[in-house]
Amino acid sequence: MKFTVLSLFPEILEGYFSASIMKRAVEKGMIQYSLVNIRDFAYDKHHKCDDEVFGGGAGMLMKPEPLDRALASAGSPGVRTVYVTPSGRLLNQAMAQDLAREEQLVILCGRYEGVDQRIIDTRVTDEISIGDYVLSSGEVAAMVLIDAVYRLHPGVISGESLTEESFSDGLLEYPQYTRPAVYATMQVPDVLLSGNHAQIARWRLKASLAKTVAYRPELLARTDLPEAVGRLLKELIDEGGLNERTAVHTGRTDQE
Ligand code: SAM
Repeated sequence: MKFTVLSLFPEILEGYFSASIMKRAVEKGMIQYSLVNIRDFAYDKHHKCDDEVFGGGAGMLMKPEPLDRALASAGSPGVRTVYVTPSGRLLNQAMAQDLAREEQLVILCGRYEGVDQRIIDTRVTDEISIGDYVLSSGEVAAMVLIDAVYRLHPGVISGESLTEESFSDGLLEYPQYTRPAVYATMQVPDVLLSGNHAQIARWRLKASLAKTVAYRPELLARTDLPEAVGRLLKELIDEGGLNERTAVHTGRTDQE
């Protein structure tokens, strides 16, 4: 899979592609990337890439001409092209999974007040926000988007890690523990040391549910919850344990 990132400061992304899991994925040829400096496509003497906004108002806007040429050089139109913007659709795991199916993704990073609408109308296929807040520029948002997508590309991360994490089944992930079993008087829930895989799976699902109800109840609004999940939810309600701190961190288990 190839990521082409268009930015006025592409050097911000260089370190991201050169470290850790991404570095390995690039070295193994699973991921390719290209960082394009939009300023290289501004042909006037001062390589000007911004201008005042028609109609007035504070701030500058990225000019269409350099963006148009830079995007054309990246293969647009004809390639999935994301503009990261706070006024886009909110990024979620399903969108990341959808984007991970592409062979190539072009990502446009905004600056200033953003980009001229005509570029969005003619070159951009997806406007995506990484959250309900405004960043000063698109490079960090682009890295968030790329990170959510590339790790889903086959082979980058083991499939098991991906199926057992938050959102993969519509719920938040259950709490996890490692050695030592007792740390500063805090005990790992007994069931996790029991070796009983069925009980462990049940505890995890119940803990996932408790956490989802506490932090992100809207995720449970979907109607296709499996029957077993509905039963556990009722159990939690009956126990008055709809708070991940009481239901989970006290180490209370289903066996008790
Ligand atoms: N005037 C824009 C608005 O109110 O929607 C904000 C522009 S922001 C200061 C500059 C750039 O940062 C944007 O063009 C976009 O590329 C990026 N950006 C800021 N917040 C973002 C977010 N939540 N998600 C994705 N990109 C964001």
